[in-house]
Amino acid sequence: MDGPTVEREDRSLRPLTGEFWAAVDRGELVRPVCGDCGRSFFVPQFSCPQCQSANWSYQPSSGRGRVYSCTTVHRPPTPAFEAPYVLADVDVEEGWHLLTWIVGCEPSEVAIDMAVSVRFVAGPDGHRLPAFAPEEQEAAR
Ligand SMILES: [Zn+2]
Repeated sequence: MDGPTVEREDRSLRPLTGEFWAAVDRGELVRPVCGDCGRSFFVPQFSCPQCQSANWSYQPSSGRGRVYSCTTVHRPPTPAFEAPYVLADVDVEEGWHLLTWIVGCEPSEVAIDMAVSVRFVAGPDGHRLPAFAPEEQEAAR
């Protein structure tokens, strides 16, 4: 990662989410999948929200989904975020949701049910984060 070197926590060591962040650092999107009922869920938690089983593991995601809900943020929580930007709840193919950003287009172009796919972008603290961009843009590249 480029930019100034700052002391920061190794997020890949976090107990519940470490494996998720390690995958993001490799440019892969994963999600927890219950080994008993088969449900995908997010955010990671100790037990499956459907059946309360602790028998779950991270599995790869296609990284493709649709915008379920979105809002344009004009006043960011800190100056580290470049506004305006679009915060979205993306309905990912395997039936789970991710609160994320939409990148690669103007905020006014983002629409409910728009097809999007994952991109990995540098967040305000320099860490890689999963964001989503319109599918059409990927095809045009
Ligand atoms: Zn379950």
